[in-house]
Amino acid sequence: MTAMRKVSVAVPRPLAGCFDYLCDSPVTVGARVRVPFGRDRVIGVVLAVAAMDDTDGLKAVEAVLDSAPLLDAAQLALLRFAARYYQHPIGEVVQAALPVPLREGRPVLRQLPRRWRLTEAGVAAQAGRLGAKQAAALAFLAEHGEVDEAALREACAASPAWLMDLQRRGWLTCHASWRGVAAEAVAAPTLNEAQAAALAALPQAGHSVTLLDGVTGSGKTEVYLRWIERLSTDGGQVLLLVPEIGLVQALAARLAARLAGQVAVSHSALADGARLDNWLAVRAGEAQVLVGTRSAVFAPFADLRGIIVDEEHDGAYKQQDGFRYHARDLAVVRARQAGVPLLLGSATPSLETLQHAWAGAWQHLRLPARAATVALPAVRILDMRSAEASGGLAHELMRAMRQALAAGGQVMLFLNRRGYAPLLRCDACGWCSECPACDAMMTVHTASRQLQCHHCGRAQPVPLRCPACDSSDGLQMIGLGTQRLEQTVARQFPQARVLRIDSDAFTTSRQFEAAVAQVHAGAVDIILGTQWLSKGHHFPNLHLVAIVDADQALFSVDYRGEERLAQLLVQVGGRAGRETAGQVWVQTRQPQHPVFGVLTALYETTARRLDSERHTAGLPPHSAQVSLLARHRDAARVMQALAFTRDGAQAAGIGRDWQWFGPAPAVMPRKDGQQRAQLLVQAADKSSLQRELPQLVAWLQAQAKAFRVRCAVDVDPLWLE
Ligand code: ADP
Ligand code: ZN
Ligand code: ZN
Repeated sequence: MTAMRKVSVAVPRPLAGCFDYLCDSPVTVGARVRVPFGRDRVIGVVLAVAAMDDTDGLKAVEAVLDSAPLLDAAQLALLRFAARYYQHPIGEVVQAALPVPLREGRPVLRQLPRRWRLTEAGVAAQAGRLGAKQAAALAFLAEHGEVDEAALREACAASPAWLMDLQRRGWLTCHASWRGVAAEAVAAPTLNEAQAAALAALPQAGHSVTLLDGVTGSGKTEVYLRWIERLSTDGGQVLLLVPEIGLVQALAARLAARLAGQVAVSHSALADGARLDNWLAVRAGEAQVLVGTRSAVFAPFADLRGIIVDEEHDGAYKQQDGFRYHARDLAVVRARQAGVPLLLGSATPSLETLQHAWAGAWQHLRLPARAATVALPAVRILDMRSAEASGGLAHELMRAMRQALAAGGQVMLFLNRRGYAPLLRCDACGWCSECPACDAMMTVHTASRQLQCHHCGRAQPVPLRCPACDSSDGLQMIGLGTQRLEQTVARQFPQARVLRIDSDAFTTSRQFEAAVAQVHAGAVDIILGTQWLSKGHHFPNLHLVAIVDADQALFSVDYRGEERLAQLLVQVGGRAGRETAGQVWVQTRQPQHPVFGVLTALYETTARRLDSERHTAGLPPHSAQVSLLARHRDAARVMQALAFTRDGAQAAGIGRDWQWFGPAPAVMPRKDGQQRAQLLVQAADKSSLQRELPQLVAWLQAQAKAFRVRCAVDVDPLWLE
C-alpha cells in the first residue's frame, strides 16, 4: 500500500497561507504539483510534506510535475522570509521566483544549441580528397575550434542532415551545451591605488556587507569584475543586480569580455524561453555570473559565493505594485542566509545603506576619484527667474552648447517629462485637459496627436476646439516636455544631429541599446532624455550635460524628494566629461537651494545633512514605516475601511508605541477611476513593526472584505501613493 501524504501547496492566488492536499505518489518539498483550486486547476509549489493522519475533506493532487525539487532550500527560505516580511501571499511570492514557462507547468526541458567540433579522423581527412563544401566545413572547424551549429551552417551553407552525414563518417562530433553572453576578450587595465585597496579589503567568504562608495566613473565596475573573478574560481557563482533592463546587456557583455566563465542574464524583456535557459544554466552551475534586474534576487544558484547590487540607491529595485519587495533589501537577507559576502555599489548611496556604514556595521570602502579623468565637471547653476530664455533653454546655456559642439563634443539635456506639453488649457474659458479617470492632467503628445494620461494610460485625440466653450483659438499647450524640447533644439541647432531617448521614442530594450550604440559611435550630437538615461551609461565624448528643469523635484511633497534630486544631480553630472573635462548646467528658479551643493562637494556631506533632518523628524531610516493602502470608486468607503482598521487594531492593543498617520487621501487621490487612501504606521524600529504587522494586516483584510475595497500593504514604502 502506498503511503498517503499531506502536502502544503503555495498556489498562485492572492490568498494568505498554503493549501493542503492529499498526495499518494512520491513528492518532495520544492516540487511543482497540479492541483484543483475552486473551479480551476493551478500549478503550485509544495512547501511542506507530512505523513497523513486525517484525510478528511482534502482534495487530491492531480499530478506531481517535478521528481526533484525545482526550488531549493535556499530559495524557499528567502521566499518564506519575503512573504512574511512584506506580508504578501506566499503563492504569489513563489510565482515571482519562477520563469513563466515553469509557472505554466511546462517540464524542465532544455533546448540547448548543438556545438560542433572536428575529430582526429576529421583532421586526418582534411589531407584526403574532399568535395569543396566538405573541405570548407572542415577548414572552418579547424580554424574556429568548437562552433555553434547556427554559425557552422551559415559559414558553409550546410543542412543538419549533411552535418549528421559528416558525423557518421566520424569526422565531426557534436554536443549540446549552454553558452552565455558572447563577447570578444579584452585586456584588463591595471587597478589604481584606490581600486586595489578596495579589492584587497573585499572578503572572500563568510557573510558580511560592504558598501563600495565611489564617485561616478571611479571604476567600481572594474572592482566588481576582479572580485567576481576571485569568487568564481573553481565553479563559484556571483549574482550581480542592476536597476534597469537597459543596463543588463552592456554590463553582461563587459563581464563576458573579461571573465573565463559564462555570463547569464535575466530581465523581463527577455523572451520566456531564453529566460528559462538562463535560469536553468545558473541552477546547473554552468554560468558563473548572473546579471539581472530585481527578480534575479530569487534565482537558483548551484554554488553562490557572493552578491553585488550595483547602484544600490536606485528606486527601481523596489517593486511598486503587487508583491512590493525591495531587491536590495532581499539581497541582504539572501547573502545572510547563504553565508556569503554582499557588495553594495553606488556613487550616491541611500541613507538606509549609509546608516549601517556610518554605524560601522557594514564595511565602508571609498573610491574618491575618477579612474580615467583629471577632474570632476565644472558646475553652473542658472537662475531662470532672470535668465533670458527661449523654448525652455537659457541663451547662456545655448551658447555653451554651441561651444561644446564646435569643440567636437556631445551634449545631453535631461528633462523628466515625456510628451510635448504637460497640459492643454483654454484661455477663453479656463478648461484644462484633466484626465476623466485621474486627478491629473493629460499630457499633449504631438507625434501621435493625442492627449495621454501618464497615470492610467488613457488617450484621446487632441481637440481642435475647446470641449467646454468651443473656442478654436483659445487652446494653449502649457509647459515643456521632451518632444517640445526636441523641437526647440532642432530649431536652435539646425546643423546638429539630435536624438530623443525616452520611453515614447523606444518600446523595446533592443531599440534602446541601438540608440545608446549610436551615441557611442558619435552619430549623435545632442541627446535629449528623461531620467532613464541618467543611469550607468558611460559616454566618453559627452562635454556638457544640462538639467533643463530641476524645480519639478524641488516641489515634491515626498520627504525623499530631496534625496532623490541630490542623487539625480550627481548621477547626471557623472555622465559629463568622463574622459574630457566636462560641464554640468542646471536650470532652476531656486538657485539658492542647498541641494545644489551636492554638485560641488562630496555626496556624503549632503547625505549627512539630509540624514540629520530625517533624524530630527523621526523619519526613515531612523524609523520604520508600513503603509496600508485601499482603493474603491467611492472615496468615503475607502476612508471608512481604513479608519475602522485603525480603530479596531488600536482597540485590540496593536501598535501601542507606534505613530499612526491618517487615514488620508493619497497625494493623487483618484487614479484610473479609483479613489485611493492610505493609513501609515511608523515605529522607532523595524522589529516592533514586524512583530505586530500580521495582526494589523489581518484587520485590514477583514475591513477590506467588509467594505468591499481593494487593499495592499507596502512595507518600507519608498513613495507616497
Ligand atoms: P563606475 O562603475 O565607478 O562608474 P567604471 O568601472 O565604469 O566606473 O569605470 C569608468 C571608466 O574608467 C571606464 O571607462 C573604465 O574602463 C575606466 N577604468 C576603470 N578602472 C580603470 C583603471 N584602473 N585604469 C584605467 N581605466 C579605468
Ligand atoms: Zn474654452
Ligand atoms: Zn488617467
